[in-house]
Amino acid sequence: MTELEDARENLKDALEKIGEEDFFERLKNPQRFVEVNFPVEMDDGEKKMFKGFRSQHNTSRGPGKGGIRFSEDVNEDEVKALSLWMSLKCAIADIPYGGAKGGVVVDPSDLSESEEERLSRNYIDSIAEIIGENRDVPAPDMNTGGKHMSWMMDEYSEDNRELIPGVITGKPVEAFGSKGRADATGFGAVYVIEQIIEDEGLEAEDLTAAVQGFGNAAAPAVKRLEEIGVDVVAVSDASGATYDSEGLSYSELVDCKSRRGEICNTGEEISNEELLELEVDFLIPAAIGGVINEDNAENISADYVVEIANGPTTREADEILEERDVTVIPDVLANSGGVTVSYYEWVQNRSGEYWDEEKVLEKLKENSQGAYREFRDLRDSEGLYGRDAAYMIGAEKIVKAMKARG
Ligand code: GLU
Repeated sequence: MTELEDARENLKDALEKIGEEDFFERLKNPQRFVEVNFPVEMDDGEKKMFKGFRSQHNTSRGPGKGGIRFSEDVNEDEVKALSLWMSLKCAIADIPYGGAKGGVVVDPSDLSESEEERLSRNYIDSIAEIIGENRDVPAPDMNTGGKHMSWMMDEYSEDNRELIPGVITGKPVEAFGSKGRADATGFGAVYVIEQIIEDEGLEAEDLTAAVQGFGNAAAPAVKRLEEIGVDVVAVSDASGATYDSEGLSYSELVDCKSRRGEICNTGEEISNEELLELEVDFLIPAAIGGVINEDNAENISADYVVEIANGPTTREADEILEERDVTVIPDVLANSGGVTVSYYEWVQNRSGEYWDEEKVLEKLKENSQGAYREFRDLRDSEGLYGRDAAYMIGAEKIVKAMKARG
């Protein structure tokens, strides 16, 4: 099954459970989906064509919101699934947005910095008609970050002959971004883990985590886990994984990655597959989709799977994990820290008042833990599997907004 088929089936189940199955027809497809094909001038003067997408899944709760990914694997169905997840995510985090997502089919490592800049500008130009600070507000996603967002904001503002910082979020602090945004996705997930530790009366020092990934979302999660005393015993990137049963050092990993461009083996070398099957308290997939699937779900040995990546677990794997009593904290809840601080950034851009990092992170912690408690209470009172509980909460809020608006 594709990610989109999985997302739709999960949504259908949730709508049935809340007695709103009639809304499935209205929510299974995005409200609007565009494909764009645009030229970019390469450094050698040649013009090359690129394909991109933007999917606006549902805007009942507010403007569309969601990132833009640059990846060779970007395709129509993936972008549609990701936009559906954004609708649920914003509803679960209770921030006033609908769901959207975009992407360009490109391997950014093939591009020079100036080619990436022209690609970013031309992509935003080609979707400019359908985005806007009250329509659809993009942000970073896989392989995009602050610099891409500031190029895109600059391009959109130039075309409109005025500065419109609120059209896009995840910008660098020096270009109208919010303090705390860079750490937000990883920190948000660990704030949820902190709530679990408190609820279960556990000692952080006795716990271990394995993190698949060491990018924009994963690295801050490793930093925060170390801060609270949890041993991060493994991290990885596309080049492989490193393991140390005594716990890896965040600063050593960062230093080495910034020197080499990829993670260094500061422990014992293991594969990405082995990382996923480690006996840890928290397994945190924070890289790509579909990594926990029917082939390895039986071997997942963690007590909790905390999903920082979007869509790391397939529907087939969910069935196996549920049967094996692995507790899943789904992506639409666990990784909502990024979009939550995107919302704070948008509020700051529109009010012109900028907050300090302490205030941003305090608000994020309150929001992430509040959303987790709402999820936990429903899951536990009705004996639900994590993904079902999260989808039910998100779907209910979307349906309520659709009903209220008629
Ligand atoms: N791409 C991130 C996500 O999947 C952030 C989206 C945003 O900040 O709008 O949640």
